[in-house]
Amino acid sequence: MPESRFNFQSELSDNVRNRFYIDGQWTAPSTAQKLSLVSPVTEELMLQVPEASATEVDLAVKAARKAFDEGPWPHLAPQERGAYLRKIASEMRKRESLFARVWNAQVGAPISFATYLVPTAIALFEYYAGLAETHEFTEERQYGDGAVARVAHEPVGVVGLITPWNAPLILLSYKLAAALAAGCTVVSKPSPETPLDALLLAECIDAAGLPAGVVNILPAGREVGDYLIHRPEFDKISFTGSTAAGKAIAAACSERIARVNLELGGKSAAIVLDDADIGSAIQTIVPFSMPFSGQICFSLTRVLVSRKNMDAFLEAFVAAVESVNVGDPAKPETQIGPLATRRQFDRVMGYIDKGVKEGAVLKTGGKAVDTQERGYYVQPTVFANVDPGMTIAREEIFGPVVCVIPYEDEEDAIRIANDSSYGLSGAVFTRDAERGYKMARRIRTGNVSVNGLVVDPGIPFGGYKQSGVGRQGGVEGLKAYLECKAVYMPA
Ligand code: NAD
Repeated sequence: MPESRFNFQSELSDNVRNRFYIDGQWTAPSTAQKLSLVSPVTEELMLQVPEASATEVDLAVKAARKAFDEGPWPHLAPQERGAYLRKIASEMRKRESLFARVWNAQVGAPISFATYLVPTAIALFEYYAGLAETHEFTEERQYGDGAVARVAHEPVGVVGLITPWNAPLILLSYKLAAALAAGCTVVSKPSPETPLDALLLAECIDAAGLPAGVVNILPAGREVGDYLIHRPEFDKISFTGSTAAGKAIAAACSERIARVNLELGGKSAAIVLDDADIGSAIQTIVPFSMPFSGQICFSLTRVLVSRKNMDAFLEAFVAAVESVNVGDPAKPETQIGPLATRRQFDRVMGYIDKGVKEGAVLKTGGKAVDTQERGYYVQPTVFANVDPGMTIAREEIFGPVVCVIPYEDEEDAIRIANDSSYGLSGAVFTRDAERGYKMARRIRTGNVSVNGLVVDPGIPFGGYKQSGVGRQGGVEGLKAYLECKAVYMPA
């Protein structure tokens, strides 16, 4: 099996490997605490980088506060902020391949997947640059007897950005690009499993010449994250991660009525209607039910098929899943690599066990991949005859595990799709796009695709129910970083 692919450490600067980015400076750590990066492919320790502590959070929030309260950033013309965002995008483009390899090495994202998706992060900076240039940040409204109020959309202030390990660059870019376009200053705490993406992004920000203190980046674990969210200097926390952590963060923010955005877990359903083209539905459902080994929040992990079509569907679906290329994520042909961490591996194997015990029918997979060597590989797994009440149908597994659930008719399909504490994404497969749209409107989730699964920077993304609060992407993503002020002008 593969050897460690982390063979490009020399391409990482001394700053990225040894420092944090605080107040426009590369800052040496105040403690000897390290984050250990373990290869999911070989289970070897690849690299250690400093972990930020409360001391760095204090420095960073002070710098961000000063940059917001006294610095030029919130008062620049939005077009000028847009120009900075374009410079960041152009610096990112120079490092495109490195961003993909860093994602691949840290958590085992297949290199084809990472290479395909890194441009989305760059596109987010360009999209929000465009919005900064064109958005109406003030408007006039008439009231009463011809009087005028000016409604100004102002930056919300200093924002804490907390992001997970699964898509570290893209998820940070959603938040950072929108927050900067709005005129906010930020402290970003990337996850301890993936510190490098954000530090590479800090290099881009530094090269783009943003004023000191506007962006501060300090990778650290949960405890430091907990310290950060309780700092009263933050006007807003924007979080992407698990629903459990999201609840703790919402509770902490509620104490001081700090604004909060939460992008949380999902258990999204793909409804395959009887008129669907099964072959092309399966071509979409296979990759999107387990993208990056199912470690993506919007994965279509519940596949709803009518009882009438179940046998034919299952036969084709299982064959397609069994033909997925599982292996070394550094190889371009690999579609499914290992899970990101030992913790993820144990969690997913635990759910597979539970599925079998609760009586779901294991159609394929269910075991660790026999690599003869090491690595956190789990076979792509399909459970059939899953009851919507089973644990594997209700909880987010975050692994390559799909539950195929039978439905009686359309009403039943909608009832099952909505029978979830989550409400993130979903898909409807049908030959009739308008029928698909009508179904989509009845599914209680933030996103639904008809005959596919699409996420685009210009379109809002986010969850209903316990999948979150607020939206990222689109103009909605910009508004998440704006407060609204009404100024009544003299009549
Ligand atoms: P996690 O919640 O364990 O950690 C996410 C981040 O929050 C990390 O940086 C972590 O250090 C920090 N953190 C954890 N607890 C905290 C606390 N109490 N206070 C402050 N910070 C805290 O999640 P994870 O395992 O890294 O990521 C997987 C989860 O993220 C899944 O549930 C997935 O669905 C979700 N996710 C959601 C989206 C979305 O857009 N909706 C996108 C990607 C991932």
